[in-house]
Amino acid sequence: MISTHNSGKTAFSDSYGRKIEYVRLSVTDKCNLRCFYCMPEGFRGFEPTSNYLSFEEIERVMTAFAALGVHRVRLTGGEPLVRKGLPDLVQKLSKIPRIDDISMSTNALLLASKATVLKQAGISRLNVSLDSLKPDRFRQITRGGDLDRVIDGLEAAKMAGFSPIKINMLVMKGINDDEVVDVTEFCLERGFTLRFIETMPIGPSGRQVVDHYVDLEKVKDKLASHYKMIPGVMPGGGPASYMQIVGTDMCVGFITPLSRHFCSSCNRVRLAADGKIHLCLGNQHTFALRSLLRSGISDTALEETVRKALLLKPRKHDFVNQPDEIERTMSATGG
Ligand code: SAM
Ligand code: SF4
Repeated sequence: MISTHNSGKTAFSDSYGRKIEYVRLSVTDKCNLRCFYCMPEGFRGFEPTSNYLSFEEIERVMTAFAALGVHRVRLTGGEPLVRKGLPDLVQKLSKIPRIDDISMSTNALLLASKATVLKQAGISRLNVSLDSLKPDRFRQITRGGDLDRVIDGLEAAKMAGFSPIKINMLVMKGINDDEVVDVTEFCLERGFTLRFIETMPIGPSGRQVVDHYVDLEKVKDKLASHYKMIPGVMPGGGPASYMQIVGTDMCVGFITPLSRHFCSSCNRVRLAADGKIHLCLGNQHTFALRSLLRSGISDTALEETVRKALLLKPRKHDFVNQPDEIERTMSATGG
């Protein structure tokens, strides 16, 4: 079913009446880090590069999505900045009619030299993953990451005019949960939005982190003992619920896929680098587009195929009942 959403564009409703307006676009499954909760140590199971959709193929698929009402795209990975020529893809995406919001999730290691060109190409908003402000701890969590490079990347993003810049911190018991106030202060000082995220049991690495799971209600309580907070609002249409720190502009978001899931309002699907549509992060439902794209499918048939794929989107994730089901790593779908 197609209906009109509030910006006057059409948006496709899935089998459960949810309007699908957002695609998380993974441009590579490779990464220059190995965060222990995301990718197994020594992981070698990457997709051959010849299986990656080309920029032209991505443009075709995103045009089909846009015709069905998608207007927001987030580039992710793996690490999106390791894909060569990324600004060219951003330029292509920004010319697709109806796409009005292009953002990116990155570990920021390569951001310092690329921030300006990415902004010029059409990326407006950035999310940066940052789980610790302690250099040694950061190196351990990411298996080798250099915190200074991330901070340099963030500064460059600010200079390039990105706004808002959101910091994503995965909160893990016994690993970094003692830093939630420090990271809040860091973001307050620099004008970043902060979002705390609950760990998800996705893939072998995600399951390793189950013992470190923290219900974010505890983080909210901890912050409430440091700051006066009131309910806040942030643009973006994502799943975070926000609190504003009184007397500041700063909003702190809480993303709680496990403790309070948001499946009934889920507005997104994922397109992986190999051309598979993933209908739900916490389920196996996929639809492969690559061979169709390479067999000369017409634009009209492609749009109809994508429409049918969207109808496969399940009602909710199954993290709690079937935590062993998801074998793919988080880096394959981009979070
Ligand atoms: N490399 C980029 C980055 O780190 O921002 C983009 C891809 S990364 C897979 C996207 C997000 O997924 C990151 O914020 C990361 O913290 C999150 N993530 C990875 N594994 C996770 C897990 N097991 N549970 C919850 N979030 C996870
Ligand atoms: Fe790479 Fe992002 Fe996964 Fe870390 S979370 S290993 S930076 S894809």
